[in-house]
Amino acid sequence: MKIYNTLTRKKEDFNTIEDKKCRIYVCGPTVYDYIHIGNARPMIVFDTFRRYLTFIGYDVNYVSNFTDIDDKIINRANELNMDSKELAKKYIVECKEDMKNMNILDASTHPLATEEIDGMIDLISKLIEKGYAYVAEDGTVYYDTKKFDEYGKLSHKVFEELIGKRELKVTGEENKKNINDFVLWKPKKENEPYWDSPWCQGRPGWHTECCVMAPKYCNGPLDIHAGGEDLIFPHHENEIAQYEPVYGAPYSRYWMHNAFLNINGQKMSKSLNNFYTVRDVLNRYEGRILRLLMLETHYRAMLNFSFDLMDSAKISLERIENCIESLKFIINNTSKSNDIVYKDKDELYKNLKFIANNDLKEVEKQYVDKLTEYIDLFFNKLDDDFNTADAITQIFEIVKLANLNKDLISNNIVLNFTNNILLTFLNILGIKVNSGSNDDDNEIKKLIDLRNEAKHNKDFKKADEIRDKIKSLGYEIEDTRLGTKWKKVL
Ligand code: AMP
Ligand code: ZN
Repeated sequence: MKIYNTLTRKKEDFNTIEDKKCRIYVCGPTVYDYIHIGNARPMIVFDTFRRYLTFIGYDVNYVSNFTDIDDKIINRANELNMDSKELAKKYIVECKEDMKNMNILDASTHPLATEEIDGMIDLISKLIEKGYAYVAEDGTVYYDTKKFDEYGKLSHKVFEELIGKRELKVTGEENKKNINDFVLWKPKKENEPYWDSPWCQGRPGWHTECCVMAPKYCNGPLDIHAGGEDLIFPHHENEIAQYEPVYGAPYSRYWMHNAFLNINGQKMSKSLNNFYTVRDVLNRYEGRILRLLMLETHYRAMLNFSFDLMDSAKISLERIENCIESLKFIINNTSKSNDIVYKDKDELYKNLKFIANNDLKEVEKQYVDKLTEYIDLFFNKLDDDFNTADAITQIFEIVKLANLNKDLISNNIVLNFTNNILLTFLNILGIKVNSGSNDDDNEIKKLIDLRNEAKHNKDFKKADEIRDKIKSLGYEIEDTRLGTKWKKVL
């Protein structure tokens, strides 16, 4: 597998520190409000990446924090006359709810900044000891960027270029030695939460938290450090500057950054009122549709969100599910379909080999050859800097292939395998398929039987009433040569 590394600006072979183990840290949201769909992009992208790593045999330690102390949290809490801790706690709960609805797996650890203050004080003390940080008169601790020769290596900026950036103009700047220096610890202000420290009562700067939590919960330096591209500078640059002088080793082998999500071609912002929370969107659409939409664009390409795109993602998902339903319907006509989601690549290819070695008709042989081509391509695309967009194209190729050939194939094993491939690929993308038997489905099946009985008895009024009832339960039915097909309307 190759991954684009922001650090080297190249696609590089992916090799982890420990064989078949992967340590990944993804910067999580600052919890002062409901998360927006921009925040959801790194969540969905890297959750899917994690699922893929697991599928290809890695034991993944996935760590993602919540920033639960920050100016934005304090300001919002003051506005609402609320305790900042309570505010952060509330939005962590809301964020977890959104994550669940987007089918984002729980991280191996979800550390909280406020629970790691001791570790941060420890790191800052070491930086002071080693001469990389200094304490100003008011107790503010600054990082001395002139001391770290490699400062700027991630963002590929030269020192002079860094002068005058917005992020550098925070309060208390007068005491800085160099314009690029950043705050590691700042004194408390009135009505602000604070912790004791050797320098003053106050709180840590944002950049210190991740480079304390990441190595702590990943057990050492990282294989991958990830987040949105806005974090490259200064956040990730400043994390490297703190970690590497203290530990004398590279902080992370690979740096992965997702591009931004815009709305109708414009930057998403509260002031432009083109701002959607995940909650807004999930009130109108299922989480899996948002997932599909996000993954239909390569993670390093700008994603221009619109509800038209959500509608087409919905139609796309319906196409895949219709194909799965049709395959099952044909199989169930003569035998019983059996859903299998392959748990890893080896299992999938073992089954493919078994299918290809079956006694197949010419048309089936050709079909399996084509299917193999698309399966290989699906993986090749994911192995090429995690190109989910092109991988999803292969899913649609498989759907097209199956729709064209399903009536020509009499071997149910081949049809069932196709079904399993679609289920497995969607599972890698974290998209659950609405199929299989649940109580609602059983209810619909019963109604279909009743309707068929009514039709058989020429009681068309009753048959129509039952059709309406099925519709009102959110299902569509279609009478075909092989019987009545039904599906849930998304
Ligand atoms: P924040 O809460 O601002 O620290 O952001 C949490 C994560 O969401 C970070 O990885 C950001 O880079 C990412 N992020 C924020 N806004 C967007 C956006 N519009 N598009 C993509 N990623 C974003
Ligand atoms: Zn971070």
